[in-house]
Amino acid sequence: MSTAIYPQRFNGKYRKVKDIVASFLLFIYMAGAWITYERGYGMPDQAILIDLPQRKAYLFGIIIWPDELYYLTLLLILGAIGLFICTTLFGRIWCGYTCPHTTMVDVFMMVENMFQGDRNARIKLDSEEMSSQKFIKKSLTHFVWIILSFLFGFGWVGYFYDVKSLAIDVLNFSVTSNGLLWLLTLTFTTYAFAGFLREKVCVYMCPYGRFQSALVDNDTILVTYHDWRGEPRGKEKSSGDCIDCHKCVIACPMGIDIRDGLQMPCIGCGLCVDACDEVMLKLGRPQGLIEYTSANASKILEENWQYSKDKVTKIVLSYKVILYCVVFAIALCALMSALIFKSPITFQVDKDNLQLFTLTPDRNIRNTYSIYILNKIPKPQNQLCLSIEGLQNSLLNIQLLGNNYEKKQCFNLKPGESFESQVFILAPSESFQPFSQKYFDINFVLHAEDSSSFSTRSIFYIRK
Ligand code: SF4
Ligand code: SF4
Repeated sequence: MSTAIYPQRFNGKYRKVKDIVASFLLFIYMAGAWITYERGYGMPDQAILIDLPQRKAYLFGIIIWPDELYYLTLLLILGAIGLFICTTLFGRIWCGYTCPHTTMVDVFMMVENMFQGDRNARIKLDSEEMSSQKFIKKSLTHFVWIILSFLFGFGWVGYFYDVKSLAIDVLNFSVTSNGLLWLLTLTFTTYAFAGFLREKVCVYMCPYGRFQSALVDNDTILVTYHDWRGEPRGKEKSSGDCIDCHKCVIACPMGIDIRDGLQMPCIGCGLCVDACDEVMLKLGRPQGLIEYTSANASKILEENWQYSKDKVTKIVLSYKVILYCVVFAIALCALMSALIFKSPITFQVDKDNLQLFTLTPDRNIRNTYSIYILNKIPKPQNQLCLSIEGLQNSLLNIQLLGNNYEKKQCFNLKPGESFESQVFILAPSESFQPFSQKYFDINFVLHAEDSSSFSTRSIFYIRK
């Protein structure tokens, strides 16, 4: 027995919302990488770019550097909590409206509709023997699916490459093996998942559907069939409002009957609501036999049901939701303040601990350090000056590899440029004669041209 699902398209408010959201998301998936943002000399002008080889991410004016991976952690925490809040309030609505997979399934179904006709025409076509007409219809469908899959794959890969160079490489058949592997993988998976596996991905492959049941409760707004109003179903006068027309079942892209109650495969898309509302409208009965509501609200509605009554489904903020919102707000504040107070410079100093200090032939004490300075802003840092501050700063001289000993060492950094060097600090040993301690705390200070400064602590050893 064939298990293929042939959903029928019904027009209605949720179909409209889905189409608008899908158009917006498709733009983001397929064209977002082409949006440009001017960052200045030497910086990529792609607004959204994840540069894996350089371990950098660009999001318009924000640049995330390798030492700032905690932003990604905060973003993942925000995403997870956002999904928890959304699921607790509205069930699997993410799946129904915004998931890339269901969006592509929707687009693929539109193509199917265009070339093979509506549900009945598709069922008939699939049951027929192969003919030239069937071959043309099927070939056109698969051809457009493959083009769309490639565009979708290209859209995603474009966020990880310079998208303009990638497009030129594709046109010249000179894509790198890495890029080609990703393009082919995404094209193939999109074609297979959205063209053939469809609801199976949501039911068997996606882990989100599995844990949603742990998040929903009686106040969660879900697509609900009011059985107290619909049953007993049938066309007789004594029956409830459900005339058992099966329109809600044939509208469902997951192939389920919502009248059987909440089921794990239901992605909360609301397409069965549109189908049933159309039937109720034709029958002159109030719409909303199937609607977005909570189990508790459905119970209240049952107790107060009158055909003329306007219904309001309340969004109940349970303690669980309030807690999620508080954690979400904290994570959001942490992310925002980390972005607002983001340092324009990475400045690291490491003491060479293999040799605590060296006594030079001219009786100076020398300590060795490694420094790493990175200009993280999209403009040059001219006149960055490194100096030492601390108890004995008047005695200390600093030398960058290849320079002379000075009180300070200055250099320039272009946007995104880093500077790594060994640094030697030298001080005359007799200056420390009255002191008994083994080391002094010192501060490496980096002064920028705009008079901001960055400092990091270290230690200057004078004896073992
Ligand atoms: S569309 Fe409405 S009336 Fe028709 S079977 Fe479904 S619930 Fe019953
Ligand atoms: S039962 Fe209704 S809301 Fe659930 S997946 Fe099917 S059409 Fe969408």
